[in-house]
Amino acid sequence: APGRIYEVSAAPTPGGGAVAVLHDVTEVERAEKTRRDFVANVSHELRTPLTSISGYVETLLDGHHSEKDTRDFLSIILKNATRVNRLTEDLLALASVESGDYKLRTLPVRASVLVQDAIESLAGMVLDSPVTLEAAETTTDFVLADPDSLNQVFGNLIENAMKYGKSGERVCVGARRLENEVEFFVRDFGPGIPFEHLDRIFERFYRIDKARSRDSGGTGLGLAIAKHIVLAHGGIIRAESELGLGATFLFTLPIAPARPQQVSPVISAR
Ligand code: ADP
Repeated sequence: APGRIYEVSAAPTPGGGAVAVLHDVTEVERAEKTRRDFVANVSHELRTPLTSISGYVETLLDGHHSEKDTRDFLSIILKNATRVNRLTEDLLALASVESGDYKLRTLPVRASVLVQDAIESLAGMVLDSPVTLEAAETTTDFVLADPDSLNQVFGNLIENAMKYGKSGERVCVGARRLENEVEFFVRDFGPGIPFEHLDRIFERFYRIDKARSRDSGGTGLGLAIAKHIVLAHGGIIRAESELGLGATFLFTLPIAPARPQQVSPVISAR
């Protein structure tokens, strides 16, 4: 079939002959390519800051520099070391959420509480930024969620909204009830995301503007981590955008029973 990759092997027939057997290895090849691309990306992402660190250390060791130059070089070294640190942290987080045995500690939590917690834990970051963070409509329905993991999802989405959203604007966070799930959203009023990138931004290391992402401390892994956490909850995550008007990230979580089921007093008395 067109677009598919086959491996050929020979199989004996009862009459002592042989037939050629085609094995469809498209998926295996695809997975292998993804793995190779990932390793190449990781190596590249780590090499860039490490090359800068060794370059500046060599310069410092080589000669006499003014106190100001020395301080400038040291702060570049620190910035790059911080970057390596962040990358390894994100890689570890991604490896953990991608592994099949990632354990969630889910419990019934009110959607409004998750939204409020997310806003509170980002409050420090908002103080240093011109962006205001607002709770939009929320629902008090209970969802089944691991609050710590959810905090990481919100953190990644809100940080992005503040980084890429136009400065001075607001970011809205909220939740609304759908039929069997609650849909959470993080909305910004920045430049938005061109249609052709909307699905791809959830891939590891995919960035629309690599330089801009790096400058703002991004690793290109935040949305991939968020996606895996939402999938582990049985939800889905997606992005919507109208160019020039902003971007909205939405994810769903399953509804939980409002109250833990009570043991019937008749049964428990027996
Ligand atoms: P990064 O560390 O680069 O922010 P992410 O995985 O969090 O990595 O995001 C991937 C890319 O998606 C970003 O580099 C950026 O190009 C784009 N992106 C994410 N959120 C937004 C947003 N709110 N507005 C515009 N672009 C965004």
